[in-house]
Amino acid sequence: MSEKPEHFIIDGKRLDGRSVDELRPIKIEVGTLGRADGSCYLEWGNNKVLAAVYGPRELHPRHRQNMTRSVVQFRYNMASFSVDERIRPGPSRRSIEISKVSREAFEPVVFTKFYPKTAIDVFVEVLQAGAGTRTAGINAASLALADAGIPMRGLVSACAVGKVDGELVIDLMKEEDNYGDADVPVAMTADGQITLLQMDGHLTIDEFHEALKLAKTGCDRMYELQRQALIEKYGKESMIDTEDDGGAPDGDIDE
Ligand code: ADP
Repeated sequence: MSEKPEHFIIDGKRLDGRSVDELRPIKIEVGTLGRADGSCYLEWGNNKVLAAVYGPRELHPRHRQNMTRSVVQFRYNMASFSVDERIRPGPSRRSIEISKVSREAFEPVVFTKFYPKTAIDVFVEVLQAGAGTRTAGINAASLALADAGIPMRGLVSACAVGKVDGELVIDLMKEEDNYGDADVPVAMTADGQITLLQMDGHLTIDEFHEALKLAKTGCDRMYELQRQALIEKYGKESMIDTEDDGGAPDGDIDE
C-alpha cells in the first residue's frame, strides 16, 4: 500500500492534478456483452467494471418468488486480480455489504410491480479496483438495467465525496480514500432523490450538508455521461423525457 502523503491538496490541485470538484476520467460503453439482457462496461479513473443484467426471468427456487412484484438481486464481486494482492475468490463481508446497499440503491426506482414472480439479476464484476468501486458498479448497473429495457423511474447516478486536508473533495482517488478524513458514497436519481448514502469517517453537520451538494454535482455530471452513453447506443429519439416518470401509470411505483 502507498504511504500517507503529507498533503493531499497543493496550490488548489489534488495529487492527480484535479480540482476539488473534478471527476476522474470516465469511459462508458453500453451493451458490451452479447448474452446478457443488458450490460455496461465502465472505466472511472483506475476502476474497470462490468455490469450485466439478466431478466426479468422466473425466480428459482419458487418459494422465493413474490406474487406481486419482481425481486431484484444484486451481486457485486471483485475479481481476484483486481487489486495488487490477490483477493480470495468468493463472497466476503465487504462484497456482501456492497451487494446489499447497491440493491437497495435501485429498489426505489425499478418498477418491480410489472413483473410478479420474477427475478431481475444484476451482476457487477470489478476487473480493476482503484477506489470508488461501489459507485462505479452502481453507475454501470444503472445503464445495464436500462439496456435490458427494465422500466425505471430514471437512472441512478453515484459518486463519492470525501474530506482531505480539511477540504471537501469529490470522487476520491486511492490515497484520498485510504488516508482521508471521510468517505461518503452517494447515489441518487436525476431529480436528487438519494438512494444510497454511506459515511466512513467524520464530518461536521455543515460539512455534511456541503458534501451532499458536492455529491449532487458529481452525480449530475455522471448522469450526463450515462445519458450520452445511452444515446450513443440507442440514438436520441429513444430517450425518455426525464421530467415525467417515463409514462408509467400513476402510483405504480414499487414502495
Ligand atoms: P469502494 O471501492 O467502493 O471505494 P472501499 O472503500 O471498501 O470501497 O474500498 C476502497 C478501495 O480499496 C477499493 O476501491 C480498492 O481499490 C481497495 N480495496 C478494497 N478491498 C481490497 C482488498 N481486499 N485488497 C486490496 N485492495 C482493496
